[in-house]
Amino acid sequence: METYYNHINGEWCESKTGEQFENRNPADWNEIVGTFPKSDKRDVDAAVKAACGAFNEWRLMPAPKRGEIIKKAGDLLTERKEELARLMTREMGKVLTETRGDMQEGIDTAYYAASEGRRLFSHTAPSELPNKMNMSFRMPVGVAGIITPWNFPMAIPTWKIFPALVCGNTVVFKPASDTPATAAELVKILLEAGVPPRVINIVHGTGSAVGIPIVEHPDINIISFTGSSAVGKVIAEKAGRQLKRVSLELGGKNAQIVMDDADLDLALEGVIWGAFGTTGQRCTATSRLILHHAIYDTFLDMLAARTQKLVMGSGLDPDVHVGPLVNAGQRDIVEHYVEIGKKEGARLVCGGERETSARCANGFFYKPTVFAEVTPSMTIAREEIFGPVLSVLKAVSVEEAIAILNNTVYGLSSSIYTRNVNNAFKAVRDIEAGITYINGPTIGAECHMPFGGVKETGNGHREGGWSVYEFFSEIKTVYVDFSGKLQRAQIDNQG
Ligand code: NAP
Ligand code: MG
Repeated sequence: METYYNHINGEWCESKTGEQFENRNPADWNEIVGTFPKSDKRDVDAAVKAACGAFNEWRLMPAPKRGEIIKKAGDLLTERKEELARLMTREMGKVLTETRGDMQEGIDTAYYAASEGRRLFSHTAPSELPNKMNMSFRMPVGVAGIITPWNFPMAIPTWKIFPALVCGNTVVFKPASDTPATAAELVKILLEAGVPPRVINIVHGTGSAVGIPIVEHPDINIISFTGSSAVGKVIAEKAGRQLKRVSLELGGKNAQIVMDDADLDLALEGVIWGAFGTTGQRCTATSRLILHHAIYDTFLDMLAARTQKLVMGSGLDPDVHVGPLVNAGQRDIVEHYVEIGKKEGARLVCGGERETSARCANGFFYKPTVFAEVTPSMTIAREEIFGPVLSVLKAVSVEEAIAILNNTVYGLSSSIYTRNVNNAFKAVRDIEAGITYINGPTIGAECHMPFGGVKETGNGHREGGWSVYEFFSEIKTVYVDFSGKLQRAQIDNQG
């Protein structure tokens, strides 16, 4: 068990409260992964002060140089990939193949960010007046407040912190209380790679004691948050009062459609991975399966047989497919929704209970669960569950399937399995979601493409790819007049 600290103003330090909290392994609650400082507003204030103080030095470092530092961070993540994947599995439960993928996403994001340090393009345009040039530059915004969830403990922080830094911003980072260890190791790597000590600050603690003070701090200029829609709304409201720029990546109720012309074996592989990967705790997890009526019975049988073969246990064991839920509260939520599903008349096909085998005795395990005969108005068809529960619905046409898919307040990821090109392009045009996969599951984003959702999944920003660099920079417009006289736009070039 390791003792971890905050990193504030270039020093690893305890919190002002002097108190600590424990981070435990959800597959074996007796194992303590580490202890962390239980911080409050005073620690946030100190971190923001440090980040403000470091801003000038960092913004004046050439962006390609900042990119080189992030490249080095990518090299260090590569060296420590296996070690940190194991730590991540111990602290939040998902299986080792997936935590390795989470690490790789951080590595890919680092190398993409490094190359972006030599781009950060902006536009030039002709002037409407003679002997004058118009151009624009990207400027950093200031101090970035970064608040992240526990389901991608490495990938999501890197999606935010690397572009923030390459664009010249300094950082105050609050990771999820369930995954502070991976976050702390990322900060160590950034420091070792050469990020100046006061440029990156990490403050551990709860959403209310640390998250809210970050959001409300007048010297935090920009906020990037991933988490639930409920908390996202609170953050948007508080930040809105100070006119701060905020990027919100929130909940989802993602669906996979399977048409009667689909490759059913392929569609089955997709839905098993989409629904039960990360124990269903992905923002892009497949929570609804919409089957064409002609293949409904056949596919449901295939799905039930396959789901019951999934092996649960510690994510460190190589034969395990599905790990535990992240904590007791998350399992309570899943149990609550399964009860509602039964009460509202859905048919429980498999799962629907805790996994009680000996290897699962000390963790928060819940069996992969499938409900059939779900109708669009049922609670389990509408609300995000964030667990291994799949609701199966029926549609008679591609149009009806898309309408059912769109019948949600969320709009993150979506998928259709079909061999019919007309169905595929109808789906691309008509599905209301930030991401649509054709013949792939709802999960599988690549770091160089924009990532995010519509409706209550977000507020219009995108992470990943080129789009996140726009979020983390301000545009400065510059006019250079070399005519030697006053030239009035819209006036002197008329008539
Ligand atoms: P959450 O409760 O909203 O927490 C997310 C982060 O916000 C954590 O660091 C949390 O701290 C902090 N927080 C909690 N309350 C806060 C407050 N009032 N003010 C400021 N910060 C606060 O979400 P979660 O349960 O960790 O994650 C699951 C949710 O995230 C799901 O809804 C999922 O769909 C969403 N998610 C979305 C995406 C996406 O890209 N769209 C990706 C992953 C997850 P503590 O950990 O200390 O509570
Ligand atoms: Mg933990």
